[in-house]
Amino acid sequence: MSILVTGGAGYIGSATIKYLQSKGKEIVVVDNLQTGYRNSVDVDKFYKIDLRDMDSLDKVFKENEIEGVIHFAANSLVGVSMTDPYTYYDNNVYGTLCLLKTMMENDVKKIVFSSTAATYGEPKNIPILESDITNPTNPYGETKLTMEKMMKWFDYAYGIKYVSLRYFNAAGAHKSGEIGEAHNPETHLIPLILQVPLGQREYVSIFGDDYDTPDGTPIRDYIHVMDLADAHYLAYEHLVSGNDSDIFNLGSGTGFSVKEVIEIAREVTGHEIPAVVEARRAGDPAVLIASSAKIKDVLGWNPQYDDLKVIIEDAWRWHKNHPNGYDD
Ligand code: UDP
Repeated sequence: MSILVTGGAGYIGSATIKYLQSKGKEIVVVDNLQTGYRNSVDVDKFYKIDLRDMDSLDKVFKENEIEGVIHFAANSLVGVSMTDPYTYYDNNVYGTLCLLKTMMENDVKKIVFSSTAATYGEPKNIPILESDITNPTNPYGETKLTMEKMMKWFDYAYGIKYVSLRYFNAAGAHKSGEIGEAHNPETHLIPLILQVPLGQREYVSIFGDDYDTPDGTPIRDYIHVMDLADAHYLAYEHLVSGNDSDIFNLGSGTGFSVKEVIEIAREVTGHEIPAVVEARRAGDPAVLIASSAKIKDVLGWNPQYDDLKVIIEDAWRWHKNHPNGYDD
């Protein structure tokens, strides 16, 4: 039996596949390679397919013995979603609808879903609990919340069990330095900071230093991508063991400000990394920190790399080895 991983050629998908393979799992990948990289995964069963192409997707289910699905395939840039919600609804929501329909038709009833802290919107409480109100402030978060809700009703009506993992800020890379973050264009803080010591950028921008935080810059909860990978494995096993659907936050529970992240990157790289304060970026809340108590309690998740210095060291190893990502 295999696990079908959609979006397996992306940053978190490829890290999760490497981890699942180390646990002896057989993997089938479906990815349209819109943003992913074929050489980020070492699998024989790789299908370059869009989820909305249901005929082709159905063939994947017919050709393989699929036990369950881990679903990463989606567009994930908040800023783009603000100006192009159509694409986000079409790819994320309609793509997931096609996937769920194909699962139903092939009697596959387990799915682990890659969700996001953006489902909460501007938080009322810190740390954020799974029971807190969900009120997304952008189409990206809204589509992910819609996908979660679809799964809730597909469970109710058709018995498809799901675990939704609401990630906070994924960061770091596989210890080997062979797979890591490669977005084009890059928008995430840590890879942008590391472009400075790589000589690809003169300075890093700080998007606002007038937030209501101790140093004025926004605070985020950074979680190592391999700890994320472990959470997917545990969530999948949870479903295979016959447990019910559930939703979990996935963060380290500790917050770092943008200035603190830059300071740790200076230590790790030995580079002065100039930083320039610029205007706030639209839609950025001041503080996002997860309570991960529930996933620790229910799934026994125990993050191994919750030191931000280690996260940045691992990211730095990857970026130094592959300054142009998978094009090297
Ligand atoms: N950020 C920044 N400069 C950059 C990129 C990001 O100051 O060049 C800030 C951003 O405003 C946010 C934090 O870094 O407060 C993390 O942003 P990122 O895009 O990495 O993740 P997000 O929190 O949006 O998921």
